[in-house]
Formats: sequence, structure tokens, C-alpha cells
Amino acid sequence: MNYPRIKILLVEDNPADARLFQEALAEVGSHNFELAHVSHVSQALQHIGENECDVILLDLSLPDGHGLEVVERMSRQAGEIPFVVLTGLNDEEMAVKAVRQGAQDYWVKGQVDGTLLARALRHAIERKRAERRISTLRDINVAITSTLELSSVLDLLLAKIDLLLNYSATGVWLAGPNGELDLLASRNVEKEAWKALARANPHTSSRSVFDNGNPLIISNFKVDPRVQSPGFFVKYGFVSYVGVPLIVKNETLGVLSFYSAEERLPSEDEVEFLSTLAGQAAIAIHNSQLHEETKRQAVELQKANNVKDEFLGFISHELKTPVTAMVGYAGLIVDRTFGEINREQETYLRKLIDRGSHLSQMINTLLVAAKVEAGAIKAESEEIALGDFLNQLRSAYDGLLNNKVALTWDYPSDLPVVKTDGGKLRHILSNLVTNAIKFTEKGMVTVAVRVRGGPSRHFSSRSVNGVAGSGASIEFRVADTGIGIPKDSIPLIFEKFHQLNGLRASHSGSVGLGLYIVKRFTELLGGRIEVESHPGEGSTFTLTLPCQG
Ligand code: ADP
Repeated sequence: MNYPRIKILLVEDNPADARLFQEALAEVGSHNFELAHVSHVSQALQHIGENECDVILLDLSLPDGHGLEVVERMSRQAGEIPFVVLTGLNDEEMAVKAVRQGAQDYWVKGQVDGTLLARALRHAIERKRAERRISTLRDINVAITSTLELSSVLDLLLAKIDLLLNYSATGVWLAGPNGELDLLASRNVEKEAWKALARANPHTSSRSVFDNGNPLIISNFKVDPRVQSPGFFVKYGFVSYVGVPLIVKNETLGVLSFYSAEERLPSEDEVEFLSTLAGQAAIAIHNSQLHEETKRQAVELQKANNVKDEFLGFISHELKTPVTAMVGYAGLIVDRTFGEINREQETYLRKLIDRGSHLSQMINTLLVAAKVEAGAIKAESEEIALGDFLNQLRSAYDGLLNNKVALTWDYPSDLPVVKTDGGKLRHILSNLVTNAIKFTEKGMVTVAVRVRGGPSRHFSSRSVNGVAGSGASIEFRVADTGIGIPKDSIPLIFEKFHQLNGLRASHSGSVGLGLYIVKRFTELLGGRIEVESHPGEGSTFTLTLPCQG
């Protein structure tokens, strides 16, 4: 195999040792190596500042430096140049430390085999190159995954490439919805002119990388027959090109293009490195494209929701007035305000009032939901004597039940005073109780209320002044022995317009908004609501509210 000629700098103050190395390398052939020799660290640093050098052979015992201190200076100042330290037979421990501190390898002095030394030097150069590439990839990866905004990802990517790799200009071409390539980010090119060229000329180099999904190398624009507009690149001072596709999950998103001002034929290794870099960049680009798409959809969804909510608010408001009037007038007729009516007329008028009332109830629910959605409902905070409050709520159900469902109330007589919004609490509990009755054909509905927690930790504790302690909460349980709710439907019942089994119980005034409002009101009161249910056995809704709302 033919290797390029390697420029070596030997830093060695012992003339005999230096001669050994010179002779060994001479054996391998001067067409393979070019050797420069200095005897001080300072001379070595000066040499690499002024001359090209591929690798340094560094003795660790020099007139102006010794041991790890020399290694430290070299790692700091040699930059990209790999170095191999030379140690004595008994110095291996020191050599290992030197490798840990940045040397690529070590060589124990003694008999020098030229071929082995040549191999070690090439290995050191390769190792340094690999280290540099890994750290470049890591650096770029950290930068481009630090944000999800597409334009920042692209700018950071090109800024890092500019800093870490040796290209005159770069560009990221990404495919639009119709497959057209657009230059979304670039460095050191006239962006608008390049975009225009791509629009006018469908066969650009980047286009062919995109279409073939493979890297493309053009070492000289002027002489490569594949280039359609060589004059364009020459005009901007570019001679060669490497393009690598940005591929993620088998989909080509675009092309990462590198332009150089001098003729350049990158090695297979380099192209492979650029492809790895492009793969990494493609993931970051893909993620930010997904992120932007999600953001856009969220905005659209919000807009659609706003329109729907406005519509809902408007319609319910417009319907409320006439329906209330219709029910009111029908009531007046049934009450014989305008004279006698017959039995049949009364029957149908009562049906009209009944249906009209349900309709009015539905409209009210829609209005409340629209207000909740618009964030127009706030929670009040007032002191509520819970015992009185529940007695009142309970009396509203007197005489309302058929004899197939029994409604039981279970709460201690010494319930505390709590700070909350009584109107909303009544709304929540009425809804839960009404649902429990509605979904229980035969059996029992129980409403149980308890004080939980608080500083004294006593069940049903009550503080001296009758106001519950600050850590305490009140638990309201509404349990029924009705039809129950399937497990997978439980998370859905609090969503808007969700009714199970396609139930549209318009005759009962329900629209699937009851539990949605219950949930939102509960949140407004700073509480939480949970459900436990078994189909065929019944459901238990548990509302927990802080005492100090
Ligand atoms: P609706 O206006 O239909 O009652 P809700 O939002 O109050 O709407 O309830 C949503 C759905 O949750 C109901 O349609 C019903 O399927 C189910 N559900 C609510 N409460 C119960 C319950 N106690 N038992 C069984 N299913 C219930």
C-alpha cells in the first residue's frame, strides 16, 4: 500500500539516540519519511509553528524540560499534531501517564526497528485524527441538540463546522413540500444568488446528491463534466465540492454541502466522517421540523377551538332567550291565565314545558362550558358551613326519586366551616348526584362526606373556632350501584361532549358536558376528582377539596 510521505519532527538531545532513529527510518525509505531534528522543547515549538509536521517523536528528558511537564506543554501547544513520547526501558509507568495526558503513544528506546516505528507513527496520526473527529462530532451534536428551533439548529451546525473543519463555505439545502431544494442556511456564500441559481437550474450538484442519496465529490468544478454551471462557482472562487445527503429513517431531508477554494480530493475516510456528521445533523433537523410542525398544529387547533367556543357561546345565548320565553308562555297557558284549556291541550303543553326545560338546561350547560373555555369563570372564596350547606343540597332531592333508587346521605353533624366557592361546589355535587341517579336503574346512591388530614390528623377533626385546619381537606364521595363505566372509558368521561355508548340523552338535557364542567370547576377550587368504577357494579366519584380554598 502507498502511504503519503510523513513529516516527522524528532525532539531528542542525545546525538547517539537521534542517530539510531535517523538510521532506522532511512531503512524504511526516505520516500516515506521526511525527518527534521531538534534538541530542545522550545525549538520544537518554534519548528511546528513555522513548518508543516505530521507527527512528533518526543524525548522526555531534554535540556529545557523534563518528564510530564514536557508532555503537558506539548499537549497544550502542539494543537492538532500527534506526538509519540520516547522513554527509557524502566520508564513505562511514566509513558502510560504521558498517554493519559495527551500523547498518542510511547516508544521504548533501544534497538529501533524502522518498520515497527513507521507503523507506530502512522498509528499515532490515525489515532489523533479519530480523536479529533469524535470530539468534533460530539461538539457539533451538543450544539445542534441544544435547541429545537430549526433556524438555530442550522446556524449552530454551520457555525461549528466553520470552526472545526477546514472548508471555505457551507450550505444546508432542505427539501420543501414539493421536493424543491431551498438553501435554508449558509456560510460564506451569497445566499440569494445561490437560491436563484437553484431555482433556475434544476440540475445542481446538491440536487444530484439529494436525488441519488449518496455523497458527491467534485474535485474541480472547471473540469468536471457533471457540473452544469461551472462559471458560477468559479465566479465565487470555489474549486471543489463535497455534498452529503441528510438522511433520517430512510428519508432524505436535504443536503449538507461543503465548498473549497482550492482543489481538493477528500479521502474515503473524510467522506465517511462527513456522512456521519450529516446523519447526526439530520436527526436534529428532523426533530426540530417535527417540533415546528407540532407548534403550528397547536396554533391551528387553538384557532379552531376559539372559533368553536365563540360559536357555542353565541348560539347558546341566542337560543336561551326564545326558549325561556316559550316555556314561560306555555306555563301561563297551563295555569289558565288566558282562560280554560282542555285536558288534551294541557297534556301536550306540559310535554312542551318538559322538553323546553330540558332544552333550556342544555343551553345553560353549553353557556357555562363556553365561559369556562374562555377562562371567564373565576372561583369566589366564602366561608361555608358545610353541615348547613349539605342539609340544603339534600332537601333539593326530597320527593324527586322513584322508589327503585334509594339516596342516602352520610356526614357527621360537626362538619367544619370551609372557605370555598359554594355555587361551584353545589354545581359539582349536584352533577355527580344527578349522574349517579341517572345511571342507576335500581339500587342505591350514597353521598358521604368526611374531613381528612389536617394538623391533628384526626378523622373528622374540627378546630377550636370551628374552621378546619389549614392542611385539612374535605372528601365527598358519591357512590352508586348503577351500570358502571368500562375501565378504558374512565379517562374519557371528563372530556368535552363525551358520552359513553353513543348515548345522546337529549330528552334528559344532557350533552356530555356535565363532567367536563365538574372537572374544570374542581380545578378552580384547587381540588381533585377521582373515579373508581366496575361495569355492572357501580361507580364512585371522589371529590377532594382543601378546606382553605
Ligand atoms: P352527560 O351529560 O351525558 O351526563 P357527563 O359529562 O355528566 O355527561 O358524563 C359523561 C358520561 O360519563 C355519561 O354519558 C356516562 O356515560 C358516564 N357517566 C357519568 N357518570 C356516571 C355514573 N355515575 N355511572 C355510569 N356512567 C356515568
